[in-house]
Amino acid sequence: MKRLICFLMGVAVCVSGVADEPVTSGVVKKAIPDKLVVLTFDDSAKSHFTVAMPLLKEYGFGATFFITEGFDFKENKRDYMTWDEIRQLHEAGFEIGNHTRDHLGITDQTVGQLAEQLEGIEAQCRAHGIPKPVTFAWPGNAWTPAAFEVMKQHGIVFARRGGAPEYPYEEGRGFALEPGSDHPLLVPSAGDARPKWALADLIRAAEQARDSRIAILQFHGVPDTAHDWVSSSQQNFEAYLKYLKLEGYRVIALRDLREWVNTEHWPQDPTAVIETRKAKLAAGKAGGQGK
Ligand SMILES: [Zn+2]
Repeated sequence: MKRLICFLMGVAVCVSGVADEPVTSGVVKKAIPDKLVVLTFDDSAKSHFTVAMPLLKEYGFGATFFITEGFDFKENKRDYMTWDEIRQLHEAGFEIGNHTRDHLGITDQTVGQLAEQLEGIEAQCRAHGIPKPVTFAWPGNAWTPAAFEVMKQHGIVFARRGGAPEYPYEEGRGFALEPGSDHPLLVPSAGDARPKWALADLIRAAEQARDSRIAILQFHGVPDTAHDWVSSSQQNFEAYLKYLKLEGYRVIALRDLREWVNTEHWPQDPTAVIETRKAKLAAGKAGGQGK
């Protein structure tokens, strides 16, 4: 017999007679703890393998690496990982996500190419003994709900975007994920690290991980030797990891959110929460998040 025990994010969570045995019909499978952070790295940067991976292992943190063969990935092995290195990330326990074969911005005009863009990365994963990706990162700050069905057909359960359009791209700021309100294929970045970021910027993003919200952090190279406008220094990155560790954050890969979030639940209006946040920001009423 099912009974209603609590409300999370305004959504009823039904559990069976045993309190810790949730069913997945609700948005949230079980209570989301505070200080839950997802680390993500985009664009196949060489330093993901040489710098980020050893540090993450040292701290015992999980992470998702979103792989693309775009830019000059195929010829430039000074700035980009080899597939053998990507395989080693997987073997070390990290998640390999799909960031399209060519780093193609997915819009209403290009969505017809999405299937082959996903398949390009899936084929390389298959060839290198890496599981088919179940998460995706939208390239180049573009997205469209017209892509959702293709992603679903390919087994994508979460797709991460940037902090825009709530905040301008340039600021690298964003909102934490609100399961039930945010569409699982439009997961916002609570922070998108930039060269000018300091520890305070990381803290502003991470501290949103409370009250059933999850902070997703976006990084590029550490440093990013091919894209300097999104680079993070190793020194700063180490300070961020140390802060998260000392403050007791749990740091995981995007796929791991399936433990808490029912990915089958898609909000009826995928952009309603975005419009609500924009309106609040415009009115200067977003409280701690809007300052
Ligand atoms: Zn990218």
